[in-house]
Amino acid sequence: MADGYGFHEGEVTAIREVSPSMRRVTIAGRGLAGFDVSAPGQWIKLFVDDSPRGGRAMTVRDWRIDRLELDIDIASHPTSDGLVGRWLQSAASGSRVRLAGPRSTFRHLPGHKLHLFGDETALPAISAIVEHLPSGAEAFACIEIRRPDAVLEAASMADVTWRWLVCGTETPGAGLLRCCRELGCASGSDQAFVGCEATAAREIRQLLQAAGFAPGTAHVSGYWKAGAREHVDAESDY
Ligand SMILES: Cc1cc2nc3c(=O)[nH]c(=O)nc-3n(C[C@H](O)[C@H](O)[C@H](O)COP(=O)(O)OP(=O)(O)OC[C@H]3O[C@@H](n4cnc5c(N)ncnc54)[C@H](O)[C@@H]3O)c2cc1C
Repeated sequence: MADGYGFHEGEVTAIREVSPSMRRVTIAGRGLAGFDVSAPGQWIKLFVDDSPRGGRAMTVRDWRIDRLELDIDIASHPTSDGLVGRWLQSAASGSRVRLAGPRSTFRHLPGHKLHLFGDETALPAISAIVEHLPSGAEAFACIEIRRPDAVLEAASMADVTWRWLVCGTETPGAGLLRCCRELGCASGSDQAFVGCEATAAREIRQLLQAAGFAPGTAHVSGYWKAGAREHVDAESDY
């Protein structure tokens, strides 16, 4: 059950590599009773130590309510001194964590073509969203990865076109920006979901507005900010 602060306590039961730059952490336990996920791509705050501050946002990649068990996919990044990165180096089955959430206002609008832009931190959300799209839906997913073998294409009943951009040493989000510029004008039946480095996210938000995305149809969030710990994007559509 959640404690008085709305936290749920859980225990790591497995950690495995799902790509060379992504590790899947499975968390389970009776402390997750009452935790529930109402839409794909929702996220939690993950607390890996006893501090009430210092949680990091992570997406619920999968939630198995019958087993009170959830997966989060954690992308590795070059800054190895982050709180989660350091924790992951020593985490193992039995490690205790707390979660707060989940939340997110994003919902796919039926009948809308979905344009998904993100780096590897948003790939768990994009994968969960794509997996839940119904047959007949249309989506375009543009993902920035650090290395060519980090491709992880989620299955879907929908008609999904994937584009994978290997960013190498380029500024984070630069490829996503270029791809977004190719979008052209939005029609009333386009919808966008974006998660990436905060400076790029801000520019993409402006591009989508200029392209004519109606209010409520573009969901854009800075998932992290270069040089900033525990970044929270004040302009986000979390
Ligand atoms: C709604 C939401 C959902 C998210 N879901 C996921 C998810 O499912 N999986 C996931 O891996 N991440 C996800 N993120 C991003 C994650 O919260 C951040 O990357 C977070 O900063 C990681 O914490 P940390 O302890 O590693 O680094 P921090 O302690 O926050 O930062 C330490 C340093 O690392 C840098 N840094 C942080 N992230 C990156 C990065 N990706 N690339 C390069 N440098 C970075 C910072 O700029 C800082 O200099 C999500 C973010 C949001 C807002």
